[in-house]
Amino acid sequence: MSIASTPCQVAWTRQLFCAPMAIPANLIRPALAGVAPYVPGRPVADVQRELGISDVVKLASNESPFPPMPAALDVIRAGAADLKRYPEADWALREALGEHLGISADQVLAGNGVDSLIRLFCHACLDVGDRLVMGWPSFISWRQSTLVQGAEPVLVPLAADGAYDLDALLTAVDERTKLVVVVSPNNPTGGEVSAAALERFLRQVPDHVLPILDEAYFEFLGPDAHDGVALAARLDRPVAVMRTFSKAYSLAGLRVGYVVGPPELIVGLSRVRNIFDVNALAQAAAIASLADAPAHLPERIQVLTSERESMSRGLAALGLAPCRSAGNFVFVEVGPERAAALNSALLSRGIIIRPTGPFGAPGGIRVSIGWPDENRRFLDALGELLPTLPV
Ligand code: PMP
Repeated sequence: MSIASTPCQVAWTRQLFCAPMAIPANLIRPALAGVAPYVPGRPVADVQRELGISDVVKLASNESPFPPMPAALDVIRAGAADLKRYPEADWALREALGEHLGISADQVLAGNGVDSLIRLFCHACLDVGDRLVMGWPSFISWRQSTLVQGAEPVLVPLAADGAYDLDALLTAVDERTKLVVVVSPNNPTGGEVSAAALERFLRQVPDHVLPILDEAYFEFLGPDAHDGVALAARLDRPVAVMRTFSKAYSLAGLRVGYVVGPPELIVGLSRVRNIFDVNALAQAAAIASLADAPAHLPERIQVLTSERESMSRGLAALGLAPCRSAGNFVFVEVGPERAAALNSALLSRGIIIRPTGPFGAPGGIRVSIGWPDENRRFLDALGELLPTLPV
C-alpha cells in the first residue's frame, strides 16, 4: 500500500513549488535557495488516518517513549490557567540549570529547543563567507542555519564507526572558520567521541574558533563518556555545550534546551534571541524535571539503553551491521534503494522510522528506541521485509 501525502502536505508543497500569486523577485534571499524546509517524521495521527488503523508506532524522531516526569506534568497542568500572561524572564530556569550543572546562571541560556539555539549561534557569529566546520552526516540544523546566514558549512566525513573524526575536523579548520561543531553522540549514526580524544581536540582548536559540543543525547552516554560542561570548566579556553530536555527528559513537544558557555558568549547570543523564547510551561516543566530527575531518570535511562542494545543485537541477527550507538536510536546502512523501500513498507504496516543519509538521500535507516513491544514489532517487520528486497 502506498502512503499518499496528507492534504496539509499537498497544500504546503503547492505553496512551495506552484505559488499561484507571484511575490516580488528576490524577496526571498537567494542564499536560501539551497535550504530545504525541514521535513519532520510523519505524525502518528496522520498515519492512523491514512491506514485506518489505531495501532501505529512512531520510532522516527528520537523521542522518549516515557511520559514527562510526574512533577513536570503537575506544573504543566497547574500552569495552564496562567497562560494569558507572558512568560517570566527565564532567570529561575537559568538558576536551576546553574545549580544542576555547578555553574553560575550567567553561564547558561535556555532556548526554544537546542534547535533555536543553533539558529542563534549562526545568527550571532556567522557573516557571509564565514565557515562552520562539522561532521557529516550529522544533525542537519547546523548546516541549514549556516546556509541561512549566507555562510559556508564545511562538512567533514565521519570516522568509520559513525563518530566524529576529530583529526579530520581539525584539518578542515582554517582562518575563515569561526565555529567548529562536535555532535556526540552523533545523530543519525549514534557514534560518540571518547572523553580523552575530545579533550585533546579542544586543546588544539585555534583561538580564533569557538568549539561547540552538541550533547543532545548526553544522558544516554555511559559513565566513562565525555561531560562537556565539566570539561569546559577545566579548560583554559572558551567552549560551548548544548543539551536538551527533548530526549531523556521527555519534553520534546514543549521545546526547551540550553547552552552553557562563557558569560560574554551568552550575552552575545541573547542579542539575537527572540523575545520570550522559552514559553511559560516549558520553563516550569524544565525546572520541575530537574528536581524530579534523581527519582526517575536513572531507571528510564537503564530501560532505554538496555533496549538499545537489544535493538542492535536484533539488527545484527538479521544480518545487518548497525553502528554502535550511544544515543536513544540505532542507525544501520542498507543502501539508498533498500532504505526507501523499507521506509514505505514499514509505514504501510504502521511503523514510522527515519530513512536518512547525506543531504537527506536515504542511505540507511535510523530507528528510535521505543517500548520493548514496539521495538520487537519493528524488528519482526524488518525480518519479514528484508528477504523480499534486492540487496
Ligand atoms: N542536536 C541534535 C544532535 C539532535 O539530534 C537534535 C534533535 N533531533 C537537536 C540538537 C535539537 O533538539 P531540540 O529538540 O532541543 O531542538
